[in-house]
Amino acid sequence: MTMVPRSPAAGLQGARCSGCSVTVYPADDACPRCGGPADPAALSGAGTLWTWTVQRYAPKSPPYQAPPGGFEPFAVGYVELEEGVRVAAVLEVDDLDDVRIGMPLTVTAGQGVPRARPTTPVGEEGS
Ligand SMILES: [Zn+2]
Repeated sequence: MTMVPRSPAAGLQGARCSGCSVTVYPADDACPRCGGPADPAALSGAGTLWTWTVQRYAPKSPPYQAPPGGFEPFAVGYVELEEGVRVAAVLEVDDLDDVRIGMPLTVTAGQGVPRARPTTPVGEEGS
């Protein structure tokens, strides 16, 4: 058995304003709302899908790099986190037909773009 170390890099690093308590992502040292100082804050990554779309053509390259198997359409969306901030993320779903607005998602920091996976309900199997 190999233990996979939980990397802190997998968490989303945002910031929280000390003035108006707004949470921002990506992290910024100035609040976009009031301009006050914002301190680094780790985001939970838990949220729900706010809106989404399917990327049906390859993004401009560079910076986009097609996977070895070539481009395939993928879903991208905005996830509204518990902290109230919306994060753009690639939706990692098996089937695009499964994507629903409001579905619970867990966002982790990926390479470049954050990734969002459906949150697995505890103690619920099939339906
Ligand atoms: Zn502020």
